[in-house]
Amino acid sequence: MAESRAVLRLVEPGTSAECAHCGRPVKFQARVQARQVIANVYEAGVWARVEHYHAECYETAGQPYGPPGP
Ligand SMILES: [Zn+2]
Repeated sequence: MAESRAVLRLVEPGTSAECAHCGRPVKFQARVQARQVIANVYEAGVWARVEHYHAECYETAGQPYGPPGP
């Protein structure tokens, strides 16, 4: 059965997403190598949605979808 999983990625230019933890935008900043966690969320084995987190927020949230993969 498919399970939710998370990966760690650099925030790319043009990213527009809201952090699922703090609600603030996850956005590209020219001088900062900002990282985000992207989670593919499955509910009862069915893909439900993608959630974005600031990397720090994902840690703060207690890694709700497990340790982020590369
Ligand atoms: Zn956040």
